[in-house]
Amino acid sequence: MKSSRFTTMSPSELKAKSGKYFGVHGRFCSSHPWEVIVTTVTLTVCVLSMSILSGGKLGVVCGMNKPCQKKSPEEEKADSFLMIIVNSLAVLYLYNQFSNLRKVGSKYLLGIAAIFTIFASFVFGSGIVYFVDSSAAGLSEALPFFLLLIDLSKATALAEFASVSSNRDEVRNNIANGMAVLGPSFSLDTLVEVLIISIGTISGVRQLETVCYFGCMSLIANYLVFMTFFPAALALILEVCPHNPANKTWHIDKLARAMQEGENRKKPNPVVQRVKIIMALGLVVVHIHSRFLSQVTGMSFYLSTAPALVESEGSYQETERVPLHDYLWWKAFHLSADQLVTVGLGIVLLLKYTFYDKTNTISSSQFGSKQMTSSTVGIPSVDGDITTAYFRKRSITINCNSKESHGGMCDDSGIEECADKGNDSCSVSSAVSVSVQTEESHSNFFISNSPEAEDSNNAEISSENNIPVHNTPRSLAECLEIFKSKGGPSQLTDDEVMSLVVSKHIPAYKLEAVMGDMERSVLIRRKLVSSCLPDKESLENLPYSGYDYKHVVGACCENVIGYLPMPVGVAGPLLLDNEEYYVPMSTTEGCLIASTNRGCRALMMGSGVHSNVLDGGMTRAPVVRMPTASRAIALKYWLDTSDKFQDLCSVFNMTSRYAKLQSVHTAVAGRLVYIRFRATTGDAMGMNMLSKGVEKALEYLHEQFSDMDILSLSGNYCTDKKPSAVNWIEGRGKSVVCDATIPADVVEKVLKTSVDSLIDLNVSKNLVGSAMAGSIGGFNAHAANIVSAVFIATGQDVAQVVGSSNCITLIEKTGPSNSDLYISCTMPSLEVGTVGGGTFLPPQSSCLKMLGLNGSSVEGKPGDNSSLLARVVCGTVLAGELSLISALAAGHLVRSHLTMNRSKVNLLPHDNQRN
Ligand code: NAP
Repeated sequence: MKSSRFTTMSPSELKAKSGKYFGVHGRFCSSHPWEVIVTTVTLTVCVLSMSILSGGKLGVVCGMNKPCQKKSPEEEKADSFLMIIVNSLAVLYLYNQFSNLRKVGSKYLLGIAAIFTIFASFVFGSGIVYFVDSSAAGLSEALPFFLLLIDLSKATALAEFASVSSNRDEVRNNIANGMAVLGPSFSLDTLVEVLIISIGTISGVRQLETVCYFGCMSLIANYLVFMTFFPAALALILEVCPHNPANKTWHIDKLARAMQEGENRKKPNPVVQRVKIIMALGLVVVHIHSRFLSQVTGMSFYLSTAPALVESEGSYQETERVPLHDYLWWKAFHLSADQLVTVGLGIVLLLKYTFYDKTNTISSSQFGSKQMTSSTVGIPSVDGDITTAYFRKRSITINCNSKESHGGMCDDSGIEECADKGNDSCSVSSAVSVSVQTEESHSNFFISNSPEAEDSNNAEISSENNIPVHNTPRSLAECLEIFKSKGGPSQLTDDEVMSLVVSKHIPAYKLEAVMGDMERSVLIRRKLVSSCLPDKESLENLPYSGYDYKHVVGACCENVIGYLPMPVGVAGPLLLDNEEYYVPMSTTEGCLIASTNRGCRALMMGSGVHSNVLDGGMTRAPVVRMPTASRAIALKYWLDTSDKFQDLCSVFNMTSRYAKLQSVHTAVAGRLVYIRFRATTGDAMGMNMLSKGVEKALEYLHEQFSDMDILSLSGNYCTDKKPSAVNWIEGRGKSVVCDATIPADVVEKVLKTSVDSLIDLNVSKNLVGSAMAGSIGGFNAHAANIVSAVFIATGQDVAQVVGSSNCITLIEKTGPSNSDLYISCTMPSLEVGTVGGGTFLPPQSSCLKMLGLNGSSVEGKPGDNSSLLARVVCGTVLAGELSLISALAAGHLVRSHLTMNRSKVNLLPHDNQRN
């Protein structure tokens, strides 16, 4: 069993098992840092001293203690040139690694990396000295190979694990976890790399042997330091310099990602792991064969080159052996021409790194107390010149001082308000402040790169937008300059635009106007708002892309963060005035459309619906105050006088091609006068048109009554979007009456009830019941259900469902034998339009097209379309009333709702929902 289990163990299982041991080892190193550090240093020093006492062990490396072939001056020049290149590459590589770390902006990380590098090179140097030659004469040549093979990404990956700790125990735990995760893959990688490189040491080509030898030593030194000294030093640093992970100022994750170039360290690819294991086994076999078998046959590996040496003795040069007492470190660095170049380059880069390289840590003084973090992403430079441009990604830190403002909620007014008030504690909707992140930052959270942000920031997306990526950060001042430049915000990354919003250089509500790119503006606003929400993923399921925002912005919605997909169903055909209509309805109430549909079927089998409409006109009623009640009465008389009214009409009617003033009705309360203007508005619902006309009319009135004080354009006597008797009695918008007759047998067959039951229930429920409730205009079963569903689908002003749902449903007996059903619905205040508002949004417009009613009426007179829409709404309400009252009378309501109006998801236990 055991063996079969072993043979079937996958690389990941193997890794998990070995990870445990690495974890234990990591915990030990991190909990005994001083012991580990002292032991490692002592052992390394011991190796050095043993080397000094014994002289090198191997004594076979060309140029160190093995004679090398004498070279001609040309060959020496070529060698020297080659060494310059190798050395320079090594120095540049190390410089690049440190530059990458610097972009993260952490002193900790730079310190950690420096310690790792210095100690690893110390161990490497000791190894070289011990195994090769006590003189260390070749160390200066060996170092470049060490530098080329040093890999700081592993060290930073472990630092990533440790960095999220807030106390000593967490540091230890996290280092142990990091070692458990990274140890096995790092060990395997090192093993495979050593085995591959060591193939070169048996190549028989002496220079290659030397190079490979140093390579192997370098890898082993790296490994040893990573496994022992580094976790201990890391633990020590983090314990000595505690930092709150919430204040983490360096993005190691991003750094590690950049350095790894897509390699997922934490989850190594099992296939790759398997290949590595197989490759390692194969290489071990090769080594055993070429080393062990060669020795058995008397051909030592190290002497494999001996014949060449013997044959051409005269052409070899003995290297000078340095006496033990002359051993000095500085002797290791006797400088040849190539080394001089390398040292020079190193010094130049060091100076550049120290004095000239920009860090992303921006002086907080630039922004007062505000702080912001920069890292990497792509945008062109100020001048937009791609060849000279450099690009960067900025990750900003935003404080949502939730408790200080609006209980942490970003309310809809906040964005503008905050910007206007210059309130420091808020930016996006009153609660956001941005800051350039520094080590001292006390930011509450980052707008971390969500998948979307990741996408928008990665190189692919950037190149899609012709924005290449460069890892240099840009300050807020730079961003501002770019923003004001010709290239404008399109040259900035999302994060940079966000930083300008939170620093109030761009008002959040004006993003679309400023950016030009609607969808990108919406995305940026989403990110800003998300940062204020307790759950940063809240908007995950609210779509935003692929919507044509140009119809919305500046017309239908502000501060847009996406759009809401609503299900739309259809009821019908509704037979209305001998025409069939398929009525679009948008709702989330199950059963509603099915029920309405049944009503339509019954009507279809009866007389169909007959409708009558009276264009009562839209109303707007300002409130004005006169000095006295008698002056108020004087104003009323003036308005009621017909010739004066005509003057007012002509002023009003000038404001629109379609709005025609019909009447003015006044109500007086003390010295307050409420003037209810009523006007036809063509195919538009007409509220804006009325407002416009009334404003002009008031100006004219004020000329007549200079002592009139206009208090408000709307005095609630209109009445818009509030329950009121005036709309119910006087009507508003379209006043519609629909009626129908249905044979008794259809009532029984389709509606599963009787005419008597319906009449009885309608009286007791819709009439007496509503009267008992003190209802105004609510003498119906559920008119609001149908009105709201049709309103949503056809882009009406949904809040006007309040007045539009006023309806009285009446049911009587009719027919020759007085046994059939007569039903009517009277709706005096249907506020609808087929022009204006949300009616021209493409989906809503489609729904209007279903009814053949989008836009202005082409054939008839202005207002025909909106009148027909009002009739359709009323006819559909009638169908809905018929069906619901029948269901109630037959006792079907609860049953059908339980079947069709209960989300199965909600009913499932919590865990099942997730699965
Ligand atoms: P609107 O879109 O503001 O005005 C309709 C426009 O369409 C007018 O410019 C009108 O021309 C033009 N038009 C073209 N053909 C027409 C036709 N056949 N019939 C009528 N007009 C035609 O729409 P509205 O109905 O007046 O206002 C609706 C909006 O007001 C909705 O968004 C609603 O949410 C909002 N609203 C406003 C208030 C308020 O107090 N202001 C209150 C509630 C709702 P003319 O320029 O010649 O008139």
